Amino acid sequence: MPSDDSDLLFPAASDPDGFVFDSGNGLFDGPFDDEDDGELKPLLGDDYYMRAALRCAQQAADAGEVPVGAVAVKDGLIIARSWNQVELLKDATAHAELMLIASLPQIVGDWRLDGIDIYVTKEPCAMCAGAMVNSRIRRVVFGMRDPRCGAAGSALDVTGFPGMLHNVEVTAGLMEEECKEMFQAFFRTVRANARKKKS
Ligand SMILES: [Zn+2]
Repeated sequence: MPSDDSDLLFPAASDPDGFVFDSGNGLFDGPFDDEDDGELKPLLGDDYYMRAALRCAQQAADAGEVPVGAVAVKDGLIIARSWNQVELLKDATAHAELMLIASLPQIVGDWRLDGIDIYVTKEPCAMCAGAMVNSRIRRVVFGMRDPRCGAAGSALDVTGFPGMLHNVEVTAGLMEEECKEMFQAFFRTVRANARKKKS
């Protein structure tokens, strides 16, 4: 990994949401328990990772993009993060989840993303849910449900469709209110700006 990844679209692991394994101050700073047997234990709950995904969504909102953010977690560590960049890249496929999945083989060295979980602020669309199936993502945890286009159980069930080679475990509606509020606030601002322009 380059030492300066500031120009990468997918800065990996080592920034504020990552962990410092040996801070030397004796405080808890990683997904290890205090038995000190070197085994990874999931001490951090789903909310922790969803909050990281929300910060990614805020990056999107700040850039004028629809605020959807996502992080990838393996063995308790956030190994990659992404956010919606459709406008910036002028690319309809530049959804947070799809870009996250595209960044992962470089990090884990395989297209098979076994044992990796994705936390995303909004229910994945059919395209992103399909990518999760094909890349064998273990579990997707999402915030806001999308009754119109959500493909992880709401409108379609791509992640759990019988007959698919792989099914993705789904946890729906985690911190749904926070995720929804960010989404709605974004569109309130967009509408207000449109009104201002008109008048
Ligand atoms: Zn999508």
